[in-house]
Amino acid sequence: MDRLDWNDKTNMFEIHDYKVTGSLMTQEEADSDWQLGLYHIALKEKWPDIKAVKLVWHSLLYNTEFTSSRTSVQLEDLQKNVIEEIKKIEECTDFPPHKSALCDWCSYQLICPLWKHPKAMEVLPINEYKNDTGVQLVTKYAILDNDKKGLQEKIVSIEAEQHKIEEAAFEFAEKNGVYVIDGPETQLKIDIKKESRPPMKNEDPESWQALRDILIKEKKYEEVSTINSNMFKYRVRAWPRDLVEKIKRYIRNEITKSIRLIKK
Ligand code: SF4
Repeated sequence: MDRLDWNDKTNMFEIHDYKVTGSLMTQEEADSDWQLGLYHIALKEKWPDIKAVKLVWHSLLYNTEFTSSRTSVQLEDLQKNVIEEIKKIEECTDFPPHKSALCDWCSYQLICPLWKHPKAMEVLPINEYKNDTGVQLVTKYAILDNDKKGLQEKIVSIEAEQHKIEEAAFEFAEKNGVYVIDGPETQLKIDIKKESRPPMKNEDPESWQALRDILIKEKKYEEVSTINSNMFKYRVRAWPRDLVEKIKRYIRNEITKSIRLIKK
């Protein structure tokens, strides 16, 4: 407990807590805080006759105070909850370490799996440090990780360069009316297609729905099962002209381009 006051004017104990954290607590947090509630319980254990207790938090960085209090029922609930937690902890057989700001104050760092090796390394002379198996593993891993990042960046830049070449190859193919561009050992196979396709549900749900409604009304929906590109490819050509006219406004005409490197 940071401070315990007896206030003569209110005839009340006051439990004070000083916070130096960078975040300002809220009134809800003060009203549900366990720490000062537990101090209140401890006070009642020592002096069972005490009545109300004022709980006060001083946020030093913000020069602000929060106050709260606990009823007997709230204290009973808190006690029950704490006992539950204690039982859970006592029944626990697995205690995974959890790195937090509290580690700086922890006296178990020399046996904690998160700190044991770094702490042991801190005191080694530089030669012994470099020869430590763990240090060598980390060093090798870090070098490979760095190499990997370098390669990933290189791949991104290679793909950007390839994309520029693809654009130039499409232009070349169109200008010269060719689908295959010859190279010394490989060739570029160019595919430029004009395609008509219906709208996709995720790109234009309104048009997709409108088209679906027309097809259901015209009893053509069963033929296609759903609105997709295959529907247009394989079915529409066989449909009556007036139906095709009705759905035409929803159909998109697109040019798709693809390129493939093939061996000669
Ligand atoms: S150093 Fe202490 S507080 Fe931090 S994870 Fe290990 S045991 Fe927990």
